[in-house]
Amino acid sequence: MLSKKEIYAQALRILEQRREQTRLTAENHLLEACTRAPEISQLKKKLGQTSIQLAKAILSHQGNTQAILEQIEQENILTQQRIKQVLVEHHLPEDYLEEKPNCTKCQDTGYCGRKQCQCLRDIIIRISAEELQKNTQLKLKGFENFQLYYYSKIPEDTGVSPYDHMGRILQYCKRYAEQFEPHTNGIFMSGKTGLGKTHLSLAIAQRVLQRGYTVIYSSVSEIVRKISTQYFGREQGNQSEDIFEILNQVDLLILDDLGAEFESSFSTSAIYDLINARISAGRPTIISTNLTPTELQKRYSERIVSRLFTQLTPLNFIGQDVRTKLAADNKKF
Ligand SMILES: [Zn+2]
Repeated sequence: MLSKKEIYAQALRILEQRREQTRLTAENHLLEACTRAPEISQLKKKLGQTSIQLAKAILSHQGNTQAILEQIEQENILTQQRIKQVLVEHHLPEDYLEEKPNCTKCQDTGYCGRKQCQCLRDIIIRISAEELQKNTQLKLKGFENFQLYYYSKIPEDTGVSPYDHMGRILQYCKRYAEQFEPHTNGIFMSGKTGLGKTHLSLAIAQRVLQRGYTVIYSSVSEIVRKISTQYFGREQGNQSEDIFEILNQVDLLILDDLGAEFESSFSTSAIYDLINARISAGRPTIISTNLTPTELQKRYSERIVSRLFTQLTPLNFIGQDVRTKLAADNKKF
């Protein structure tokens, strides 16, 4: 795991690359514009001479410096206007020669005055999230290999078959991943083991990652272990990015298998703090569990359970363990 200092250095390098890209693009645009319209090159030269004229005017102390300055400035404006005109005449946008940084707030420097810009913060979170995920063997699964035909077409007591019900859940998850944005709702997936909760949350993770968002996927046990390692390690002077902050700030956090973690007051409060912090910040979390509502109520405090049921969209997985059918199928071939 990279240290906080290394992550920061890496983030600054990314910003440096962005600035270089911006500069290169502007230089290429200038070359292209000068090739199309040689007059641009003359006009640019004229602009460049302005600063020399300015310096001369100030140093010479001859005549009315103020008047000279105003005249130079006026000429400058005219030259710039002429450049825009020539660009447009040659079918190029009038701002074609301007440098366009990724972040207009800090011009890709990472700082607005002495304050860290949000863009730098975002890069740090992205690198930290990738770091956290590095050691987790994420076998990403797609929606395309979700086997709907393993679910029975025989209606259950509710009158709906697992096949139809799961078909709707599959559609919902696909749409969720396609339309995901940082303030979409969270999801609470419940149901017995082997009904596809992990598969669908991994498929969502894969699509949302592809769409360029930051995602952390982890089992609740693993997350609690990481938080506690840092919490107790920090007392021994361990310096790494605040894991709680990373978990809180990624665009999508997916917590698998709530209820399988070691039960302790530390884990319960860590889980509550995390879920609560994300809900308060309006950031989506997907949580899955094999526990029934009654089991959840027995195990967790009222405040966690009510958060899960009222703040997240519930998806109840039904049917019979598809893994046994999968294994049987695999044996056949
Ligand atoms: Zn910025």
